[in-house]
Amino acid sequence: MTKFSEFGLDEKIVKSVKRMGFEEATPIQEKTIPIGLEGKDLIGQAQTGTGKTAAFGLPMIQKIDQKNQNVQGLIIAPTRELAIQVSEELYKLSYDKHVRVLAVYGGSDISRQIRSLKKKPQIVVGTPGRILDHINRRTLKLDHVETLVLDEADEMLNMGFIDDIESILKEVPDERQTLLFSATMPDPIRRIGERFMHNPELIRIKAKEMTALLIEQFFIKVHEKEKFDVLSRLLDVQSPELAIVFGRTKRRVDELSRALDMRGYVAEGIHGDLTQAKRMSVLRKFKEGKIDVLVATDVAARGLDISGVTHVYNYDIPQDPESYVHRIGRTGRAGKEGMAITFVQPREMGYLRTVEQTTKKRMQPLKPPTWDEAFAGQLRVATEKITEIITEENLADYKAVASELLENYDASDIAAAMLKMLAKEPDQTPVHITEERPLPARYGGKGKGGGGGNYRGGKGGGYRDRNNSGKGRRGSGSGSRDRRGNGGKGNYSKKSK
Ligand code: ADP
Ligand code: MG
Repeated sequence: MTKFSEFGLDEKIVKSVKRMGFEEATPIQEKTIPIGLEGKDLIGQAQTGTGKTAAFGLPMIQKIDQKNQNVQGLIIAPTRELAIQVSEELYKLSYDKHVRVLAVYGGSDISRQIRSLKKKPQIVVGTPGRILDHINRRTLKLDHVETLVLDEADEMLNMGFIDDIESILKEVPDERQTLLFSATMPDPIRRIGERFMHNPELIRIKAKEMTALLIEQFFIKVHEKEKFDVLSRLLDVQSPELAIVFGRTKRRVDELSRALDMRGYVAEGIHGDLTQAKRMSVLRKFKEGKIDVLVATDVAARGLDISGVTHVYNYDIPQDPESYVHRIGRTGRAGKEGMAITFVQPREMGYLRTVEQTTKKRMQPLKPPTWDEAFAGQLRVATEKITEIITEENLADYKAVASELLENYDASDIAAAMLKMLAKEPDQTPVHITEERPLPARYGGKGKGGGGGNYRGGKGGGYRDRNNSGKGRRGSGSGSRDRRGNGGKGNYSKKSK
């Protein structure tokens, strides 16, 4: 393990890194930072959550000449959220070196961005469309760019940004250093490497088998019509602290989040059609623990730095195994346990097997919980809540009235009433979810892009949980559904530590 002080980085940078609470470099950082510092081109592949931003950010920041007022570093990222996330991380990493970092992205007031660009940022992070827009308006000049980064390159490819990226590349001097980072390495990405880079070094970090073990993987065979009830009951039984439900389409995400809301869960959805402001606010609420369940499409959740997810529910089994790996990688981070449950329609079992071939791990079958189990789960949570209040809170102000109650009623009746108030009975409010057809039948079961070779097993030993995180999360006493409780018995509950 390498310490950040050993890379030969500017002392100020090391100081900022320390302030961020990073102690040791992650594997991808350890391998790529030295190459980045040498000025070589590089293709880095490692799963989401493994610290790729600092892997390219630190060498870039090191190279910035503060006296030079030009844009010297350009990072292209697929979505607004990622651009913002990367710029925030770079801002922190360069806090002591005082590098000016600016994010430009669509959906945000362009004249304000133009004003910010006039303040001479030295690093610009942006989405392809908006970068091009600024190039065309001549509000962004790239002829002094020395380091160019393509972040989440596979995702940019999926989203059809390849032409935009080519146009941007034409504006950047040829003798630049180019770094490409990607979670997967399909052929077209390799070709970009060949066309636009100079003998890039390829660094690939395979996820350790071990880390995948931290995610318990289950599947439930369920017909489309029954999925929603099964999901509700699972949520009741498992009381996840922080859960993500993945749906295949935007409509699904909308319908699911609405339906969950109707059944009393604190849920919100996120997908590409929402305004940027809305997406940001949903994410913020989720990170702060104000939402228990985030419903998302693959694309919307991709690459986002979300920590502390305890449960991933695949409401629809993903079509390709890579997505599965990404989805479940949202949990079990930083050495914590996580649980992933995938709904499979009977006709989709072939997809399940394909996923298993890729992850080299079998998913355990799980039976849908019954109403009784769901109810028991809710009672357990309520009991834990009461226990917590008894042991942790000052109840002096309540005691007088409590003894009055006790004079008039039987203690067990009072306790039962409290439980009834706190426990949420499994809710069967009718909801509407448009049926999706099962994925087309698949025989043989070789994943697309078969060939194998580029699998990054399980999750990548995420580093998302910084030492200081966790503190303000799910503030206690803030009332409403604090569903912290786990422990307990039964197949479904997450093991207590
Ligand atoms: P990726 O781009 O690979 O998905 P990120 O760069 O977004 O990963 O990093 C994920 C999280 O890990 C971020 O919150 C980041 O601040 C944190 N992180 C990065 N490097 C380290 C490190 N060496 N030690 C601890 N945390 C780190
Ligand atoms: Mg990233």
